Order: sequence, then C-alpha cells, then structure tokens
Amino acid sequence: MTAAHHQDVPAGSDRDVLVVTGASRGIGAAIALRAARAGFAVVVNNSADAAGAAGVVQAITDDGGTALAVCADVSEPADVVSLFDAAARLGRVCAVVNNAGVTGDHIGTLLDMRAENVRRVMAVNVTGTIFVCQEALRRIGTTFGGPGGSIINISSTATKAGSPGTWAHYAASKGAVDVLTIGLATEAARHGVRVNAVAPGSTNTGLHAAAGMPDRVERLNPTIPLGRGAEPDEIAAAVLWLLSKEASYITGAVLPVAGGR
Ligand code: NAP
Repeated sequence: MTAAHHQDVPAGSDRDVLVVTGASRGIGAAIALRAARAGFAVVVNNSADAAGAAGVVQAITDDGGTALAVCADVSEPADVVSLFDAAARLGRVCAVVNNAGVTGDHIGTLLDMRAENVRRVMAVNVTGTIFVCQEALRRIGTTFGGPGGSIINISSTATKAGSPGTWAHYAASKGAVDVLTIGLATEAARHGVRVNAVAPGSTNTGLHAAAGMPDRVERLNPTIPLGRGAEPDEIAAAVLWLLSKEASYITGAVLPVAGGR
C-alpha cells in the first residue's frame, strides 16, 4: 500500500476546500488552478508525479491562492482516508473532483489488451472513483456533520461509441462512472450533496502520448464539429460551473464538453 503524505501548510478551518484527484498535470491541474482563482483552497492529489503536483501548488501560491499537494493512490482505500484527513487540516471540505484516470499504456483492440492494463484501468477509474465518492460523502454530507456540497466525476465521451480499436476497456470504465454518478446523486441528495459528471471529448493533455499516440487529438480533429480538441481549461470551466451555486438545481447530470462530438 502506498502511504499518503503531504507538506505542511497553516490550518484554516473556515476555508472552502476542493479536493482534486489526479491534479499533477492535464485536466486535473487546470481544474485546480481555476478553482484556486475562484477562491477554493485546493488539495492537489497525485499518485506518482510529485514534481508535477508541487509545480501546480507553486503556481497557485504564486497567484495568491492556497494549495496542498497530497500523494495518495485513489485505488487504495487507506490512501483515500489519508487524503481526506490531510484535506481537513486545510479547511472545510465541501467539493471533490474525481479526475484521476488512466487508459493504460497500449492502444488497440480489446483482444490485444493485457490483463494488467485492464485491471489498472478498472482499479483507478472505477474502484478508485467509488472509494473517493464514499469518503467524500462521509466528510461532506450534512447528515454526518459536514457542510454539504458537490462531487464531480470526470467521465469521457468515449462512452458514446465505446472506443473500438483504441481502448474499449477504458470506455467501459467511464460508462461505469456515468452510472455511478446517477445512482450516487439519488443517494446523496438527502445528505445535501449534488453529484454530477463532466464528460470531456479529446483534450490536449499527455494522456494520449502515455498510451502511445502523441498526435491522437490532432488526428481526431476532422471528426469534431468544432474542428479541434479541447484545452484542459475549457473542461475546468465546466467543472467550476457545476460546482458553483449557478448549478444549485443540477444533480445526476452527465455534461458532455466535447465540441459537439
Ligand atoms: P493525464 O494528463 O494523464 O493526468 C492524469 C492524472 O491522474 C495525473 O495527475 C496522474 O498523476 C493522476 N493519477 C493517475 N493514477 C492515479 C491514482 N491511482 N491516484 C491518484 N492520481 C492518479 O490525464 P488527463 O488527460 O488530464 O485526464 C484526466 C481525466 O480526464 C481522466 O479521468 C481521463 O480519463 C479524463 N479524460 C481525458 C480525456 C483526454 O482526451 N485527455 C478525454 C476524456 C476524459 P500521477 O501520475 O502522479 O498518479
């Protein structure tokens, strides 16, 4: 088991805290930066890329915000508890974004997908998201003495066609995230917690290179009505809107942010 660890920052019990999983780079980093500008104290989680997380925290503090890097593997329940313990020392946790996600290191048909890739994708994207949702509800829920708030799960428009020939196992994991979002939204309403999902289309991050196809977003451009992939901050904008009071009557929704694809 990976032990969660974090740096020291002054405690502040009245601050609104947002926990972003997988925030050391890509979409999670963009969410963390935008949330800090909106006034949240932000927990920047990662499982391996400590330098990336430290860089995001530095960018936020340079900008006058408050942030804390916490290393924790979302697929490990003990790590998830430690993540929220660290977050509680920063202030009052009222928002969580389940952004940590992996595709595995291979693009191809399901028949070619190694068991280890399938296991890891399900462990992080599905099991990890469930563990974080459970702990988030325990900490945020009004019935448990929390302030109430909001959970956003990052899905994908890969669920539309199932990503044949690319990563069908990953698309299936995001289908599970969508269904989890609907079920949990119904359960969480009585705890004063809204639960929604944002489903990005292809977005300019390092995820595609990590899977072995660095030019994947450009290749998909002709298939996207708006003619281009998303920038991470365009996904972050939708997440911050769903977290805000402007979206106070929205729960159980899956919002595609995908340029019309
Ligand atoms: P990315 O650049 O590869 O970043 C993934 C982040 O997740 C990193 O911060 C990584 O940090 C973290 N992470 C991975 N495993 C983790 C674990 N077990 N526990 C905690 N953190 C973990 O990916 P991205 O493109 O920004 O994607 C972010 C989310 O958007 C994912 O859920 C992805 O499925 C979804 N999405 C992406 C696209 C796209 O085109 N990019 C499209 C649709 C949906 P460490 O390496 O330190 O763990």
